[in-house]
Amino acid sequence: MNQEKLYLRTLGRLSELEKSGLRRQLRPRFGVDLCSNDYLGLSEHPLVKAAMCEAIQRLGCGATASRLLRGHFDEFSYVERRFAEFKGTEAALFFSSGYAANLGVLTTFPESGDVVFSDSLNHASIIDALRLSRATVKIYEHCNTDALAARIAETPCIGQRFLVTESLFSMDGDIAPLREYVQLCKATDTVLIVDEAHATGVFGKRGSGLLEELGVTEDCFVSINTAGKALGVMGAFVAGPQWAIDYLVQKARTLIFSTAPPPAVAVALSQAIEIVATQPKLRTELLSRASLVRSELLAIGANVPQGRSQIVPVILGKPEVALKVAGEFQARGYDVRAIRPPTVPPGTSRLRLSINLKISEGQLKDFLHAASDIMPRV
Ligand SMILES: *Cc1c(COP(=O)(O)O)cnc(C)c1O
Repeated sequence: MNQEKLYLRTLGRLSELEKSGLRRQLRPRFGVDLCSNDYLGLSEHPLVKAAMCEAIQRLGCGATASRLLRGHFDEFSYVERRFAEFKGTEAALFFSSGYAANLGVLTTFPESGDVVFSDSLNHASIIDALRLSRATVKIYEHCNTDALAARIAETPCIGQRFLVTESLFSMDGDIAPLREYVQLCKATDTVLIVDEAHATGVFGKRGSGLLEELGVTEDCFVSINTAGKALGVMGAFVAGPQWAIDYLVQKARTLIFSTAPPPAVAVALSQAIEIVATQPKLRTELLSRASLVRSELLAIGANVPQGRSQIVPVILGKPEVALKVAGEFQARGYDVRAIRPPTVPPGTSRLRLSINLKISEGQLKDFLHAASDIMPRV
């Protein structure tokens, strides 16, 4: 059989992963959710579910083609306008995932001769997008404005400079110094692109994200806002000026050469955005629960980095340790997953607790009680 050589090599690779505690398993959800990104519980919200069901009955299951062919529906235009209004930008464009949105944006605007400065802990979809981009890529130390400024100063650029960063980092739960970045971008003629994946729906007065909360929406070129996290459905909005959206429609290959998401997704998202925009109590409640979890975990001596978001990491170091601790929580019915390299840097394997509104106060209390038994102390 001509697959023999590949089979043996792959088996070897799998056993290497197994030995270093890095083999991954697909495991269905169970128990109390402490690891999803459904921060506001909108994936199960009755109004969102009803909107999606009604839309499936009316419009069918699939979009049947890409947006530029027969896959475009009025429902997409509507939700894009609604999202732009929510975000405070001129326009928005919906992609089938945050991954696709990052690929679309970062292969469209940065061109050959340009330089993109990228945070060392940026998400894999940004890393992959920059691998596909023809621009030069320079990595700077995580959230370090001085290091970034030095990188910019030392890097010659004949074209356009870009800075790309997450606003709320997905695995550390910390927040980029966006105001400092804005000053630096102004001083160095650099265009700012911000991935708001975990901040959309959670931060800001309207709930549109950290750009809004920090008052820098106008200083950002485009933002990427995933719709499968706090908004509870799927896909992602790129928000920015109309001319940028117009150009993405011409050039973004992940939009052009991919079937549009089901139109029912757009309808469900319109409802989800309405809920976020009109119920600020959801996000204040979420953040106050997260802050309780943070302080309780710190009180029992767990290694929790500083932060003020709904993402609460507990750093454990070796992958085996993270697996073991996660396993103990799982045995008690808590859906907590170990996060290991390559998702996080070697030596920083962790539990990533993500707080959400589906957990009752009683469940949260029980969880913290279990944590005081299980969690290794530093
Ligand atoms: C989750 C995530 C993405 C990818 O979004 P999907 O919609 O899940 O593809 C992109 N960027 C960041 C920072 C993320 O956390």
